[in-house]
Amino acid sequence: MSETTFMGVTRDRIDWSPRIDYDKCNDCMECDEFCPHDVFEVREDQSPKLIVKNPENCVVFCRACAKTCGPDAITFPNKNETTAYIKQIRKGEAAGG
Ligand code: SF4
Ligand code: SF4
Repeated sequence: MSETTFMGVTRDRIDWSPRIDYDKCNDCMECDEFCPHDVFEVREDQSPKLIVKNPENCVVFCRACAKTCGPDAITFPNKNETTAYIKQIRKGEAAGG
């Protein structure tokens, strides 16, 4: 996997990806059809059928697929908290940590 960075921090250190509420999800797969980044995986004979297979492929701060989800089953981490966390990492790295 190629090493991508966001705000100067490597992507694998940033926890940003869709969270699926399986109590609400109706397996419509609109989210998977919408997202061009291969974040989701549809598994035909398994439960749950939809999983977040490649969370690091998700574009940091994108939330677009949530709008395609009728039952509102997709949520994301808090943006402000994630931004603060990224800045904290950067500060640590700048200080030599
Ligand atoms: S769009 Fe929502 S309901 Fe449909 S598969 Fe995705 S998470 Fe489930
Ligand atoms: S937030 Fe954007 S990049 Fe991430 S899974 Fe949804 S549509 Fe894809």
